[in-house]
Amino acid sequence: MASIFTKIINGEIPCYKVAEDDQFIAFLDINPNAMGHTLCVPKTEVNKIFDLDEAVYMDLMEFSRKVAKALEKTVPCKRIGMSVIGLEVPHVHVHLIPLNEMKEMTFQHKISLDHDQMESLASKIQRNL
Ligand code: 5GP
Repeated sequence: MASIFTKIINGEIPCYKVAEDDQFIAFLDINPNAMGHTLCVPKTEVNKIFDLDEAVYMDLMEFSRKVAKALEKTVPCKRIGMSVIGLEVPHVHVHLIPLNEMKEMTFQHKISLDHDQMESLASKIQRNL
């Protein structure tokens, strides 16, 4: 069965898209740890990050770096945190999280943004790519 992220990639489920190329997509996390929490996802569905082909892994890091730079320009923060978990969605994704406090990396502390805020944030990040 296709993962929820494959459904997003195929346009079957909406997302607040931040960046896309032929191999990867980045969109805002629906349940963010902090303002601008973004997921970078390979379009090819693979469960675990270290099972990616080496070239795809390296390209994912480069794609994530570009998105992180745009995030840092857009969202006031001390730095961009990066995490890979995958216990909820078994489709490789890199979490990029603009950080001001350690608790924002714990995945226990969540914030709530409405549709307009998410849409406007995604557009601002896109413009800073
Ligand atoms: P993990 O698999 O790394 O533990 O967590 C999966 C992440 O994907 C969570 O932060 C969760 O909020 C996010 N997520 C799950 N389903 C969706 C979805 O349908 N859309 C978006 N944008 N994010 C999702």
